[in-house]
Amino acid sequence: MLSSRFLSPLPLLLIALLLSACEPPAPDPTVRLAGSTMGTSYDLKLVPTPGQTVAADFKTRVEAMLAGINRQMSTYDPNSELSRFNRNPSTDWIAVSPELLQVVAEGLRTSELSNGAFDITVGPLVNLWGFGPEPRREQVPTDEAIVQTRERVGYWRLQAREQPPALKKERADLYVDLSALAKGYGVDQLAALVETTGIMNYLVSIGGEIRARGHNGQGQPWTIAIEKPVPGQRAVERLIRFGDRSVSTSGDYRNFFEQNGQRYSHVINPRTGRPVLQTLASVTVISDRSMVADATATALMVAGPEQGFQLASEHHLAAFFMLIKPDGFQERYTPEFEPYLAPEQP
Ligand code: ADP
Ligand code: MG
Repeated sequence: MLSSRFLSPLPLLLIALLLSACEPPAPDPTVRLAGSTMGTSYDLKLVPTPGQTVAADFKTRVEAMLAGINRQMSTYDPNSELSRFNRNPSTDWIAVSPELLQVVAEGLRTSELSNGAFDITVGPLVNLWGFGPEPRREQVPTDEAIVQTRERVGYWRLQAREQPPALKKERADLYVDLSALAKGYGVDQLAALVETTGIMNYLVSIGGEIRARGHNGQGQPWTIAIEKPVPGQRAVERLIRFGDRSVSTSGDYRNFFEQNGQRYSHVINPRTGRPVLQTLASVTVISDRSMVADATATALMVAGPEQGFQLASEHHLAAFFMLIKPDGFQERYTPEFEPYLAPEQP
């Protein structure tokens, strides 16, 4: 499993709206494939054009591909390529697969973009707070443990080289955690696999990471909902409509524990060594690639309502923030996000 545990196997924050409820005049050709991966669920909606078919073994190919990604990038699999890299005490260049390098390089790029709010070396802190592969602790660590663990964290302590693909740790105990962008990477790979079959109308997702192309089974643009960030409830805040894009939502109410009335989420601020403060209910990002949307949504979540919004504006990102206010929630979004808001809102 790549991601941390989720409270539900279904993506809670972004739900693909099944427009089939509106009685289509023609039979809906959508083929749906779903299953479990990376600690959550994957879902493919494929819309073949007349004459196109989905091969009987396509689901097997999907699962083989997802299993392959886990074998490369999961920190939940002690024998994955990433886990072996993490255990490797060498501070010389360590050869890695081009795929692992690509995801690490994107992680490092997101660190630079977010001035370190996003950091794939944050794993030891994630584990310390009990959100990693080890059994859940549900207890706030001591200040001393946090300070000590922070010593091991810092993306500048990790170097990536493309030719030949290799990574280099500055400290033997550096530990890389790709959970904040590997689901997005998986979604991009799923989309590429679908396209090899010639199907160009689809929506694929892993957890809350979604990528769509073309139109749905009724010939309409794909529409998804940004949910109201209220645990245990599934009300729609906004509808977004998009084609040929990826969308990701980072929200800290899906995976957390509570102690003394304080909520601690699985997204850690590398600067403080503590879970991000609850000033943002969620951040939704739309981008060409799912890996980028996934990483960026988490990065903006950590950066927070002020700095995060500034980053999104400066870099012309399509981002939608749900701020927590004493009397409820407040929306704030960049001009780049606006075209995706569906005209008919709930
Ligand atoms: P969300 O959708 O809530 O942003 P993700 O699943 O994308 O969550 O990423 C959260 C996971 O990423 C955590 O479970 C942890 O393993 C890792 N993580 C936590 N904090 C950071 C951070 N600051 N930078 C990068 N990865 C992080
Ligand atoms: Mg993410």
